[in-house]
Amino acid sequence: MSEPDPRRRVPRTDAVLTDPRLAAATERLGAAAVKDAVVAAQARARRGELAPEQVADAAVAGLPERATTLRPVLNATGVVVHTNLGRAPLSAAAVEAVAAASGYGDVEFDLATGARARRGRGALEALAAAVPDAEQVLVVNNGAAALVLATTALAAGREVLVSRGEMVEIGDGFRLPDLIASTGARLREVGTTNRTHLRDYADAVGPDTGCVLKVHPSNFRVEGFTSSVEVDALATLGVPVVADVGSGLLAPDPLLPDEPDAATALRAGAALVTCSGDKLLGGPQAGLVLGRADVVERLRRHPLQRALRVDKLTLAALEATLRGPVPPVRAALTVDTRARTEALAAALGVPVVPHAGAVGGGGAPGQELPGWAVALDAHLAGPLRLRGVVGRVLEGRLLLDLRAVPASSDAQVLEAVRACTS
Ligand SMILES: *Cc1c(COP(=O)(O)O)cnc(C)c1O
Repeated sequence: MSEPDPRRRVPRTDAVLTDPRLAAATERLGAAAVKDAVVAAQARARRGELAPEQVADAAVAGLPERATTLRPVLNATGVVVHTNLGRAPLSAAAVEAVAAASGYGDVEFDLATGARARRGRGALEALAAAVPDAEQVLVVNNGAAALVLATTALAAGREVLVSRGEMVEIGDGFRLPDLIASTGARLREVGTTNRTHLRDYADAVGPDTGCVLKVHPSNFRVEGFTSSVEVDALATLGVPVVADVGSGLLAPDPLLPDEPDAATALRAGAALVTCSGDKLLGGPQAGLVLGRADVVERLRRHPLQRALRVDKLTLAALEATLRGPVPPVRAALTVDTRARTEALAAALGVPVVPHAGAVGGGGAPGQELPGWAVALDAHLAGPLRLRGVVGRVLEGRLLLDLRAVPASSDAQVLEAVRACTS
C-alpha cells in the first residue's frame, strides 16, 4: 500500500487554529488575519510545497507583524520632513503620551470637580506658553483646516485678498485658490506674480474685505525682480491679516533664516497665524491657530470648528512635543552623521559621499543641509524598500543618508543592506 496522498492529509482550519501560538495571535491580530495565514499555509500544503505537519508552523511564520498594513520604514533619503513617509516622526515622549491617551482620559473632564472641562486644555496651554505673543490659540486637524476655518469665519460671503505671487499649490493637492473657493469666500487677487506692493492691497480693500491672507510660498522660491509686502505693512490696512507660515516654526530659528515664524508674524501685527503641527514643529498632524483673542474666539465659536477638531491622541502628542524633549525633526536638522556613515560604509565596503539633505515638507526650499551618504548600487533601491529602508536614487546610485535615521537603527540599515546583497 502506498502512502495516502499528502494533499488529502492537509489539516482542517479548526484543527490548525488550536495551536496555542495561533490562538495567542488571534487575541493580538484578530481572527481574520490569523485565518488568512492558515488558509495560505494550507494552500501551500495542497500544492505539495509543505508537509501537512508543517502547516501550523508556516501559518505562524506567515502572520503579519501587527493588525495594520501601515509599515514603519527607515527614512534614509536625507529629507527630514518627508510627506510621503508621514512627515514628522514623533518623539518617544509623544509616543508615550499617545499610548497613555488611547484609553479613557480626562481630555474633556475635570477630575477635581467631576464637571466637564475645556477639551485639550493641557495642549492649548502648552501652545500658548510656547508663543507668548499669541493672546489665544486653537488646534484643528491640519494646516489646511486652519486656513479653511480662518477664511470661513472671517470672510465667508466676502473677499479674501491674496497676492498673485502667493497663489500657491503646496503639494498633496493643496491649492490655495481652490481651498478658499470651497469656503464661500471670494478670492481677490492683487499685484502680479513677481511683484506686489502695499498700494495693490490698499486699492482693493473695501467694505467687502473679510481679511488679507499672507501665504508663505513654502515649497519654491521666486528670484530676480520680485517684491512682496510684509505683515507689518499689511497690518496698516485696517483689516485682519491672516499669516499662513506653514512650516510650524513658533519662533525665529537661526538655522532657517528664511523661514517665517509665528511669533514674528504676530508681533508684526498679524491677527492670526496658521501653521502645521507635523512639519518643523516635529509633532502630530495638526493645524495651529494663534492670534488675537477676539479673532481666535470667532474661529472657536464657528460651527465649522466642531468638524475640524482634533482627537485626544493628537492633543496628547502635541502637548508632549511642545513640553517634552527635542523632537526627532529638530535633532535631524543639525545632526552630524559623518562617523555613523563612515562606520556603515566600512562595514559594507562602499564609499561615503557628501550629500545635501533637505528640510522637506515644503519647508526652507532651496536650503541644503550638508551631510553624508553611503553610495550603493542603484538596483538595491527596490529590495531595500521592501525591507523597510527608503533611500534616494541619484545619478545611477542609491544613496543612504542617515540624517533622519535614529542612531539606534543604524544596525538595522546595515542588516537590511547585507540581506539584499548576500
Ligand atoms: C504645508 C502647508 C500648508 C498645508 O498644511 P497641512 O498641515 O498639510 O494641511 C498650508 N500652507 C503652507 C504655507 C504650508 O507650507
